Order: sequence, then structure tokens, then C-alpha cells
Amino acid sequence: MNVSQRKVYYFDNNATTRVAPEVVEAMLPFLSEFWGNPSSAYHFGHQVGKAIDHARAHVAALINADPREVIFTSCGTESNNAAIHSALVTHPKQRHIITTRVEHSANINYGEFLKKQGYEVTFLPVDSEGKLDLTGLEKAIRPETALVSVMFANNETGVLFPVAEIAEICHRQGVLFHTDAVQTPGKLKIDVKALNVDFLSLSAHKLHAPKGIGLLYVKRRTKFQPYVMGGHQERGRRGGTENVASIVGFGRAAELAMAHLDEENTRVRALRDHLENTILSTISNTIRNGARDPRLPNTSNIAFDFVEAEAVLMLFDQLGICVSSGSACTTGSLDPSHVLTAMGVNPMRARGSIRFSLGRYNTDEEVDYLLKHLPGIISKLRAISPLNPGHTDNPEYHVEAARIKREKEMIN
Ligand SMILES: *Cc1c(COP(=O)(O)O)cnc(C)c1O
Repeated sequence: MNVSQRKVYYFDNNATTRVAPEVVEAMLPFLSEFWGNPSSAYHFGHQVGKAIDHARAHVAALINADPREVIFTSCGTESNNAAIHSALVTHPKQRHIITTRVEHSANINYGEFLKKQGYEVTFLPVDSEGKLDLTGLEKAIRPETALVSVMFANNETGVLFPVAEIAEICHRQGVLFHTDAVQTPGKLKIDVKALNVDFLSLSAHKLHAPKGIGLLYVKRRTKFQPYVMGGHQERGRRGGTENVASIVGFGRAAELAMAHLDEENTRVRALRDHLENTILSTISNTIRNGARDPRLPNTSNIAFDFVEAEAVLMLFDQLGICVSSGSACTTGSLDPSHVLTAMGVNPMRARGSIRFSLGRYNTDEEVDYLLKHLPGIISKLRAISPLNPGHTDNPEYHVEAARIKREKEMIN
């Protein structure tokens, strides 16, 4: 297979991240000479088990957990599914769960599946800034609620949820709490003890380790029913021979994530702010989606009115620039992002929204390159857009233009 080698300008770190060279280096021995099965009785396997222990200690340290509270899984999706599954199976009389409308599809689609299975699922709404109403959350908890699952940081907007407060609300009512923290490590400090969560999910490929490896934190003494059943791996909590090289890479990536935390909150945050502020101040009819704060330091989601984000993505692609639109491109139809829709963003604006997510490998020069090309792309697309000011015979244009004017006036 041919893979192109041209320079990529990668601003899609919430989708996946480059595997750090240090991580590759740590993994290689476990793809070459140390290929034993960690469960074997002989030294050749046993030493591989030691490497897993070492990695487990590092990922546990990343979230301030005990290594015995860490279960390696195949991905963030599995971790989320496993937490919800366990809460329901260990509390068979409680057939209700609560989550939000802005979760990753891992939760949304598992929730939809559970509804079809006869469970009750509450998808909590958010406001126009993407924030959750905690009183509404408290009211939604019922005696039959088994679990509340709310993400730590939203992958599309970067908006943060008050996880510690939510955990406290849940525990006051005797309900388990899970958080999908996949977007958080390396960007914010995670302390499972301070947050007092019962379950927490991570995925290695969002922190510069390979795809196909994740973890579920399960607080000590929390009842747990495995989701993948088989061998006695992971202390009987997750069957399947360990993904050794990836686990080792995850451990190394956890160390690096801690070491890069400050940089992410200074240099990367400043780059993101520069990108966002320049776009909002120099390109007309643009607006940020979601709260400015509290927000991940690397994420910016911006609506460009009168353009289709998909068209921007195509023109960006020709320049080697990788960004993402919130919309899921399904067989011919472009559904606007469920996150932006839940925030009340109108479908037209949602379809013109782009997520920029930066990371440790982005440079000033890369951001300058993007900022150099973006205005031309936007004006080129607006010139041919039926919604553009030159096509004022389109009634939708007037409605949208009036609305943008009102919103800008409210902000100023
Ligand atoms: C990427 C992501 C996931 C899914 O993780 P996978 O390892 O790709 O399954 C879940 N939740 C959030 C918030 C994510 O960003």
C-alpha cells in the first residue's frame, strides 16, 4: 500500500494523535524479541508481564489511581461500554441510566441500544454554551438509576464538565458515577481520588500512543462485572491476551503526558488562542461554538457562516491541512453534529463549523500557514455560496444575516 509522505499540518488532535517517537521506541522490543505471553509460567513470558506491571504503574500515576484499579481494554469505546454494562448488571433492579446529549457516540449509541433492550436512558440537555444544568441532573436521578455517565471534556468543543461536583451529587443519592475522560490526559490534571469518580475511561491514541488500547479505572471495592469475558487476564476483569506492545506504549505515553502538561497549558494554549482570536477578529461572520472557559487548552470550534465545513475540509486537504467538521458524513446526507445541535446551534451554522484541535507537535509556523490560507478559502467559498451576501435573493440569507448581527451586538 502507498501512503503519502507529504508534510501534514495536523490540527485534529482530538480525533487521534501522532504516536510519540519515545512511545514507538518503548514498544519495539515487545514487537520483536519479547513476544512471549505474559501469562506463561516461564521467564520468557514472565518478563513481559513485568513490562505490563511497569506500564500499569505509569498509567495509574497519570490519574492518581492504584495500579490494581486499572483495567486495560481495547479502546475508549470499550471502556465506556464496560462501565455502563457493569453498573447495570451488578444492579439488576436499577434499569435506568443518565448520560448527556453531547457524549461521544460510544455513549450515545450504547444508550440507544439499551433503550431498545428495555432500559430507561435519560440524555441530559446542555445550554447554548454546551454546559450542563446540575439541578436538572440532580432531578433526573431516580431510585432506579444505576449510573450517571458524563464526559470530562467534550471532544468537539473542548467544554469541560464539573466532574467532581457531579460525582458528589451522584454519591449523595447513592448512584455510581462514570466519566469519559478520553480528551483530558496531558491537557488537564486528572486525580481520581480528588474527583471521587467510580469509573473513568481513557484511550491511548488520544495521548500520543497507538490506537486499539484503552483503560477503565474502577474504584476499589466497586462491584464490577466484566464486559469481555474469557481468560483470567486483568485480574479476571477483562479476558483476552494482553495487547503487550500497546500497553507498554500507553505507559510511556502516560509519563510523557505528565511531563508535557505545563507546555499544553502555556505554549499550546497560546497557539490555540492566537488561532482562534485571529480567525474571529479577521474573518467576518465567524463565531466560537461553546463556552470560552472552562475549556480544554487545545480545542477551538468555530462556525463560519455561509460556508459548508466539508468544502473547507476538501480545500484544506489539498494544502495538507487536517481539521475536522462535527458533521457525520452518512450515505449522501450531511447530518449536523449532535453536539452542536444539542447546544441549539442551527443546522446551517452547525454545517459550517470546524474543529481545530492542537497538540504538542504543532508549531507557530504551522498555525501561520493555516491562517495564511484560511481567509482566501472562506471568501472563495462564500463567493459561490447561495447564502452569501451577493445572493440576497435567497430568503434564508436575510434570516441568518439578521441573526448573526443580533448575536454580534449582544457580544459587543
Ligand atoms: C476518541 C474518543 C472516544 C473513543 O475512543 P476510542 O479509543 O477511539 O474508542 C471516546 N470518548 C471521547 C470523548 C473521545 O474523544
